[in-house]
Amino acid sequence: MSFFKVNENCNGCLACVQNCPAGALNYFDQEAGRKIMHNMSLCARCGHCWRICPQDAVEFKVLLTGRFDLVKTLDLVHCKVCGEPIYTTGLGETVSNDTQKIIEPLCPDHKGFEPVKVWKKLASKRTSQ
Ligand code: SF4
Ligand code: SF4
Repeated sequence: MSFFKVNENCNGCLACVQNCPAGALNYFDQEAGRKIMHNMSLCARCGHCWRICPQDAVEFKVLLTGRFDLVKTLDLVHCKVCGEPIYTTGLGETVSNDTQKIIEPLCPDHKGFEPVKVWKKLASKRTSQ
């Protein structure tokens, strides 16, 4: 995934690489292929690459718009009453290990709900006797 996108007009002339003031563009030629590389942490989003490209190939809007990239996907624990996702499995394990307690998977809305359910069950048993 790259924030620096070029369209099909790019012919690999390297004008963008050679004129990037931040050194954010690079390239390497390997066997039959020329690879153009971009480093977002160096890029100043100055737009010089877009202005200088003789092929009108740099999709600079992509660089300006930006977007969220997926960093990691983690498993979720769901509330055992309503099924709402509440925290990640990893976080639950960390807290359990730290507190030496089994953590009940309950969302904030149902934290007090379980004891009430148990109490109601016991109460209904008592009245039916
Ligand atoms: S200046 Fe334009 S055509 Fe040349 S390598 Fe860069 S994007 Fe491709
Ligand atoms: S926007 Fe500026 S800093 Fe970023 S790659 Fe293009 S020329 Fe380099």
